[in-house]
Amino acid sequence: FELLWEELYEFAPVFEALKLIKGWSGLYAVNTMDANAILGEWPNLKGLYLANGFSGHGMQQGPAVGRYITELITGQKPILDLSIFNPIRILENNPIREDGIV
Ligand SMILES: Cc1cc2nc3c(=O)[nH]c(=O)nc-3n(C[C@H](O)[C@H](O)[C@H](O)COP(=O)(O)OP(=O)(O)OC[C@H]3O[C@@H](n4cnc5c(N)ncnc54)[C@H](O)[C@@H]3O)c2cc1C
Repeated sequence: FELLWEELYEFAPVFEALKLIKGWSGLYAVNTMDANAILGEWPNLKGLYLANGFSGHGMQQGPAVGRYITELITGQKPILDLSIFNPIRILENNPIREDGIV
């Protein structure tokens, strides 16, 4: 916050009046390969389904992921095709490329 505050103050000195009362922090579970979720059955361990590596997007993706994984486990055809997030890409070192990601 101190760093941000300095920038805010430079931008608009009125922010000088802003004081931090308390704060908290949390850790992201990050997929360091491509910062995208890993969804589906781990190929080398049948029956182990992954839904992790959300890299800071897990809350918004949770409902769709929950449905997708349920459908995979119960053998239904998924309504949303999320196979791009298949764990095989991790084993094959094949990251998802996205425009706009530096
Ligand atoms: C500061 C911060 C801001 C974020 N902001 C956003 C945002 O704006 N939008 C967004 O979409 N996402 C955001 N996220 C990411 C989002 O919160 C996560 O991606 C999401 O919570 C991951 O869900 P999860 O169920 O995979 O894991 P978690 O929510 O971490 O759930 C895992 C659960 O398993 C439990 N657990 C762990 N080990 C064991 C064990 N051995 N036995 C039993 N239980 C265990 C834990 O207690 C926990 O309840 C943010 C995350 C952080 C930290």
